[in-house]
Amino acid sequence: MITKPKGTYDLLGKDARIYNYLSNVIDNYMDNYNYDLIRTPIFEASELFHRSVGETTDIVTKETYDFKDRGDRDITLRPEGTAGVVRSVIENKLYGNRNDVLKYYYLGTMYRYERPQSGRNREFTQFGVEAFNSDDPMLDAEVISVGYNLLQELDIPDITVKLNTLGDLESRKNYTEALVKYLKPHINELCEDCQRRLETNPLRILDCKYDRSLEKGRAILDKAPRINDYLTKESADRFKQLQKNLTLLDVDFEIDPNIVRGLDYYDHNVWEYVTKEGVTLGGGGRYNNLVETLGGPHLPAVGFAMGLERIILELNKVIEERFIEKQLDVYIMSVSEEEKLTALKLAQEFRLNNLRTEINTANLGLKSQFKIADGLKAKFLIILNNEDLKKGLINVKDNVTKEETKVDEKDILDWLMINI
Ligand code: AMP
Repeated sequence: MITKPKGTYDLLGKDARIYNYLSNVIDNYMDNYNYDLIRTPIFEASELFHRSVGETTDIVTKETYDFKDRGDRDITLRPEGTAGVVRSVIENKLYGNRNDVLKYYYLGTMYRYERPQSGRNREFTQFGVEAFNSDDPMLDAEVISVGYNLLQELDIPDITVKLNTLGDLESRKNYTEALVKYLKPHINELCEDCQRRLETNPLRILDCKYDRSLEKGRAILDKAPRINDYLTKESADRFKQLQKNLTLLDVDFEIDPNIVRGLDYYDHNVWEYVTKEGVTLGGGGRYNNLVETLGGPHLPAVGFAMGLERIILELNKVIEERFIEKQLDVYIMSVSEEEKLTALKLAQEFRLNNLRTEINTANLGLKSQFKIADGLKAKFLIILNNEDLKKGLINVKDNVTKEETKVDEKDILDWLMINI
């Protein structure tokens, strides 16, 4: 038997229905915020991710799916959505009008070679938002609230936005120096990954899940210097303004100095959407220099991404009945050739009028058809028979009350519409 690759999954039944529901909700919801859908390729030139996500990040060093295509090009399956959107903004010169704030959202599969566990797959789906061409904390507040309010709309309870700032380049440089100075004497007490990070990406040590799970590591990290004490006045003011905006929008946030995010391109505000059980559903930040790094003009930007699989896991806890049981409106039973032709024709008419309809396409006997109709929880059964058909009549049975009625063939659609 051929099985699915490790870290992938088949989306079946209720979960597949929730996925569809989610993507519809997102489309309608983003329209109200005036964001446009953008679809970029699932694979891109490897260099795009090396230059944006960062050479030293876990994603690029350990997690990308890289391959040579048949033309000997270095290709990578996208591990995240921002880089492709930025590439597209630059390549298509979408920044043509200098005053426009460009607002995009995407929904698509991402690929990371990670250790699979619940809510962590190798192929997963992200919904993300990217807004370009404004450096105003008002835009940060809008983007943060897009994600927050969506989770509220979906009735996922008790979401907190964990918020931090990485400051501008100067703040970040001063802070990183102080952090390295503090951590150096403790380096042997941290995990191997963090020992390496001290050289390559020291801020990432702050959110090392492994070290935080150990008492010793937690004690070291809890006493580390805080970014707040190293912010330039401009960065500190900007962070205060954002908090004011979020309070105005009733976003439930808390400052968490350990949120640093895994990607290199962030500056200023970074945040995560976290459930009360501590599950991170998404995260984002400002990235004012990425467009330039990738060869475009200076275009400050801010965005976030959320994992759909994790949202589906949450929705499974609160989801309404309609996702759990799919119910059929009508099952049309047929045995003879004439009955089958009538069934085929009627089913098309019903389906085109939004009635969920099933027929016997497997040449089954009546008994089996009754069983299947019950399995599909059909509300009504149409039991065709040659004699009634000759008189232009259709035999309908209410599958709950078991009451049977003969209806004129030409009136059957109207009758069903009224009675369902
Ligand atoms: P990141 O791009 O790492 O900040 O991830 C943003 C969100 O995408 C996370 O909060 C998760 O909800 C989701 N996500 C990231 N990696 C995975 C994965 N391997 N499997 C499933 N969801 C993921």
